[in-house]
Amino acid sequence: MAHTCSLANPAVFKSMPSTYPALALHVAGQWLTQASGGVRPVINPADESVLGLLPLAGQTELAAAAESARRGFLQWRRLSALERFTILRRATDLMRTRAKQIAAVLTLEQGKPLAEALREVTLSADIIDFQAEEAKRLYGRMVPPRVPGILSQTVLRQPVGPVAAFTPWNFPVNLPSRKLGSALAAGCSVVIKPAEETPGSCIEIVRCFLEAGVPPDALNLVCGDPAEVSSTLIAHEAIRKVSFTGSVTVGKLLGEQCARGVKRYTPELGGHAPVIVCEDADVGFAIKSSIPAKFRNAGQVCASPIRFYVHRPHFDAFADGLVKGAQALKLGAGSDADTQMGPLAHAGRLDDMQRFVDEAVGMGARLLCGGKRSQRSGYFFEPTVMTDVPDGCRLAREEPFGPIAVLAAFDALDEAIGLANASRYGLGAYAFTRDLVTAHRLGEEIEAGMVGINHFGVSQPALPFGGWKESGHGQEMGLEGLLAYTDLKTVVVGVPS
Ligand code: NAD
Repeated sequence: MAHTCSLANPAVFKSMPSTYPALALHVAGQWLTQASGGVRPVINPADESVLGLLPLAGQTELAAAAESARRGFLQWRRLSALERFTILRRATDLMRTRAKQIAAVLTLEQGKPLAEALREVTLSADIIDFQAEEAKRLYGRMVPPRVPGILSQTVLRQPVGPVAAFTPWNFPVNLPSRKLGSALAAGCSVVIKPAEETPGSCIEIVRCFLEAGVPPDALNLVCGDPAEVSSTLIAHEAIRKVSFTGSVTVGKLLGEQCARGVKRYTPELGGHAPVIVCEDADVGFAIKSSIPAKFRNAGQVCASPIRFYVHRPHFDAFADGLVKGAQALKLGAGSDADTQMGPLAHAGRLDDMQRFVDEAVGMGARLLCGGKRSQRSGYFFEPTVMTDVPDGCRLAREEPFGPIAVLAAFDALDEAIGLANASRYGLGAYAFTRDLVTAHRLGEEIEAGMVGINHFGVSQPALPFGGWKESGHGQEMGLEGLLAYTDLKTVVVGVPS
């Protein structure tokens, strides 16, 4: 919830660093530094200082944003795919030119190391480029008539309409860019709501699009009370599609709201990724790869590896290697050059991590390292490795979304595949093996949207990214990410008389 505070609080202003931008909403072509929903502070998770004050949209601004998106759609859809491509390429040029500055904003508000933030900004530009390129090839098709009297039968692919997009705080540039890149490339207008915890870097991306020539009405940005913003925008008659990245709980709620208006919906939800370390795996390589994959962004990654199933003879060596790697990580502010793991993104995450650990330990789990808040100020939680985690506890079933790894041993591959699939989630999944047959079997049998064998890099601009089961449906990125913002239309033209 928003911690509303007064604009007149001098203590709050004193602690604002100059590198963090002034926060504003973009509604109906105007940047608003004040709005009818009040304000809330944006906090630096590395030292708990206030970075800025975020204006919050109320009903007036939300209605204005949706109406603006309706107008913006009519302008933007008229441009050819090539014209849209040219504008979007200009936007990504601006993103690359400003990458360091945008990354600094991202690190201040979200906490991840600056190098990770910089990679996020440049990868986001690549994602938008890929979508803008693909949009030039959004072909329809001609279908031969089956009866006389017909001149042509065409299947057209058209933009679905104004989109409402909601993104979380863990990738404050990448996740908005996935949605904005595809929607705008396809010819849709957008109202985007970034997470209120991390609005600054998304504002900077929106500036790049607008300065590049996206019509002001085609791109609105609002923040506010999340439940109010989402229910208002989804119910608004102008909005034709909703794209949501976030938790399963909120994803289901928004899905129900979309169903009421029969609105297209793409939910990209949480994960509980398994990693199978097989009998024939190179265990040293598996450990070396798993440490950065697990603790990147302090584990706040939807496809982050969580449940490690290790062939029993390798278990002790794997556990030992992972624990040593976790303990060696340098924690610190993302803006410090030698930091390897930053803080959690907000205070609530710390409490949640502790609840996950304490419940599991209370039910018999063993802590191999970490398990508690770090001594330093800021929202730091120690990299944590646990084993003997009972099936019944939350950690075994629910995404911790933090720096916690859970280890278990297995004896036979069938058993490991069964354990990997025994989850309501199905987003990322990984395995280590040197056997080609095993690699193909795992690729075939694991129930997940993305499977990485001997590799954690499943999130790339050209590859579709999405979940199975309660992790969602539909995809972002790749050609499929673009098609998600289009609708088909069949046009039959008969002989006039
Ligand atoms: P969340 O569901 O609480 O919030 C996500 C976004 O939805 C935020 O912008 C939030 O403000 C907004 N929101 C809209 N309506 C809301 C409502 N009625 N109530 C609350 N929030 C509402 O998720 P979070 O904790 O911010 O993000 C973490 C989750 O996102 C994790 O589950 C993670 O796995 C998931 N995630 C998924 C992907 C993916 O691509 N599948 C990528 C990143 C994160």
